[in-house]
Amino acid sequence: MKVLSDYSLKELREVLREYPSFRAKQIFDAIMQAKDYDEIAIPKNMIAQLKKDYILKPIEIYKILHSKDGTKKYLLKLYDDNLVECVFLSQHYGNTICMSTQVGCRMGCKFCASTANGLIRNLTAGEMISTIALINADNGKRTERNFSNIVLMGSGEPFDNFDNVVKWLHLITDESGFNVSERNVSLSTCGLVDKIYEFSKLKFNITLCISLHATTDEERKKIMPIANRYSINEIIDAVKAYSDENKRRVVFEYCLIKGVNDSKQDIDRLASLTKGLLCHVNVICLNPNGGPLQATTKKFAYSFVSELNKRGVSATLRRSQGEDIEGACGMLRAKTIREKS
Ligand code: SAH
Repeated sequence: MKVLSDYSLKELREVLREYPSFRAKQIFDAIMQAKDYDEIAIPKNMIAQLKKDYILKPIEIYKILHSKDGTKKYLLKLYDDNLVECVFLSQHYGNTICMSTQVGCRMGCKFCASTANGLIRNLTAGEMISTIALINADNGKRTERNFSNIVLMGSGEPFDNFDNVVKWLHLITDESGFNVSERNVSLSTCGLVDKIYEFSKLKFNITLCISLHATTDEERKKIMPIANRYSINEIIDAVKAYSDENKRRVVFEYCLIKGVNDSKQDIDRLASLTKGLLCHVNVICLNPNGGPLQATTKKFAYSFVSELNKRGVSATLRRSQGEDIEGACGMLRAKTIREKS
């Protein structure tokens, strides 16, 4: 089966060339508004024909958790019954959708719930477009855009699903679709160096975020298996290439884990690693996922940030939203799968 949201409007016109040309726009609008076949006014025989080969709505809402702070966490069901997560964050400067790029993940980071059962499969570009459409429709008028920012910080490693993510970026920024500004998209990667170089050449003006989480390769290897493949220095060189090419400030994410990456030496090393780079450090408090790794206190995290600032590093503590609703990557999906089995 093919998914209709995998196509741009131009491609849809080609796919549906045997029908009157306005039908392609009608289907395209249905995709953007997260409608299924029974919600659109097209002839029954056309629907029957399309249904044989194409899925119109590949994703639906399975469960929603509402946080006290207004954050909504969605568990979404794909047409093959796989589950993915997505978060809608309402913020005064515009709403943000945090979405997944894969079902599961194979990067194996020790603190992350998404990777516990490995990678199940990649999301296609269309499934990612339909995710946005579905969340958009659930948060206001479905004919309007109800969000301004998208962050690829849900489950999955975006650069491990490179071609689909790039295609999705073309679709999501397309004027005939959601027309999201590249500047309002952030992509977070655990640091697949070769892909960072490849991506730099495509000249997207998006914000690249790097999950650094350690200041030495030895430390990093203990919590992130990808550190066995690429060194921190290689990541820094790739980041330089990205910001030289795209003139964009890169964000380093640094999740504080008690006794692992929170020493004074870590502060000094983080300051020297980021020196001279066009970057910002986003310090995050670990959201414990039941494993042995522990969070530091919020007070400690603030002092960590302030020490970085004293050393001239642009750094802030990321405000965590939705902590009461399994806010971190993969936690809700993992819990639901556990409960179902
Ligand atoms: N694979 C991508 C995107 C994943 S998640 C990446 O590694 O960047 C987005 C961010 O959430 C990453 O920085 C990730 O390291 C972080 N994260 C994952 N689990 C977390 C947890 N339990 N607490 C805090 N941050 C977490």
